[in-house]
Amino acid sequence: MNYRKLSLFILLFSFYSGFSQVYEPIDTADYSLRNNYLKIAKDKNNILIKGFKNKYQGKVGNKLEKYYTEFFSEFEKDVKNKDYTFKSEFDKEIDQIIAELKKNNSQIPQNLKVLIAKDNMPNAFCLPDGTFIINMGLFNWLDNKDQVASVICHEIAHNILEHSLNLLVEQIQEDTSDKTTLETLKSVTVNKSNTAFEIFKNRVYKKGIEKRQQEVKADSLGYVFFKNSGFKKIEFINALNNLKDFDSISPREIKVETYKLLFDVPNHPFKEKWMKTEDFSLYNYDFYKEKLDKDSLASHPEISKRIEILQKNFTELNTSEAALKPDVNFESLQKIARMEILPNLFHSEDYGLGVYVSMQFLQDKENEEYYKMWLGRLFDKIYEARKNYNLNRYLDRVEPKKQSKSYQQFLNFMWNLSMDDIKNIADYYNKKGTS
Ligand SMILES: [Zn+2]
Repeated sequence: MNYRKLSLFILLFSFYSGFSQVYEPIDTADYSLRNNYLKIAKDKNNILIKGFKNKYQGKVGNKLEKYYTEFFSEFEKDVKNKDYTFKSEFDKEIDQIIAELKKNNSQIPQNLKVLIAKDNMPNAFCLPDGTFIINMGLFNWLDNKDQVASVICHEIAHNILEHSLNLLVEQIQEDTSDKTTLETLKSVTVNKSNTAFEIFKNRVYKKGIEKRQQEVKADSLGYVFFKNSGFKKIEFINALNNLKDFDSISPREIKVETYKLLFDVPNHPFKEKWMKTEDFSLYNYDFYKEKLDKDSLASHPEISKRIEILQKNFTELNTSEAALKPDVNFESLQKIARMEILPNLFHSEDYGLGVYVSMQFLQDKENEEYYKMWLGRLFDKIYEARKNYNLNRYLDRVEPKKQSKSYQQFLNFMWNLSMDDIKNIADYYNKKGTS
């Protein structure tokens, strides 16, 4: 479990207590849609590969063929695993945005295919074959339709500029040259390590610059598409600011009272020993803080820099204005994305994290019936895993130097539970108990 995945659940505000009726998660049993899609995607991939073989002779062409074939078989697995939804409320909104963008931008490909991923990270990306993936998580972090449009514009620009293909081709070419360099190195005895280090450093550094340059180019071209359509210009900047926030907020705490409230179940009272933790003196907040800062360094100042460059190139962006309020339709998509957080975690088998996130919602008294239902389902899975000795797969181990105090407390609690405790909690929340 990486830190970013966890940091997602520090939802900015606890905004809705909506959905009075129990929410029905998105149905992903769209078997025929999935199969049709895979057929089309496979053909598209093969046509791409043929194109490469014509354009790039020898090694580069062969390697590209290998990478794209591998890519497709991995992607096929994901699709079959239902990582994407093929029919959901999100489609209509995205289709509308793309139709609007195409109107005034002839550069945008006609046959854009968009898939919605069951993923809570606020992200969108473009697959090698040009398919757009939009994570549901974006709807939890962006304020309105215009902001989603801005992210799509940025990705379309990457695609039109063939950024990922260019990096790949370059990498293939560098692999060859690196081997040659290594051969040369073997014959050099003085300062050998120094030279190897220099080569390594230069290469990484070059990649860093290139990546940054690609981001800047995608921002500029993306913004032009955005501007040509009817979207509100400043939302391009507001969206970037929201994504910057995602990187810089730390996990929310779960109070001891919340444990006592949720796990004191009839005929199986709460036990203080469940809260026993390893020595927290091992926990070094400064270290954690430092790590946090370092982690966010990766994207954080980068986004600030991107905003700066956009404002320099497009002076109309040199202003600040609060985000537009979402329209009714967008608001309902935000609600759906929020309600899908748990189904998505369940789908990716992040059962431990799912419990932690459910507890956060329950601590805020948000949609209690719904999140209690998820507690039941998750504890069933935890019980099963514990029985099969593979709970490690679904629940993190305590790592004092890497996790927040609250998350460590949670992990200690979970690992302290006996089989019997887990069973009782699961039964209670699945309403199989005697209560
Ligand atoms: Zn990008």
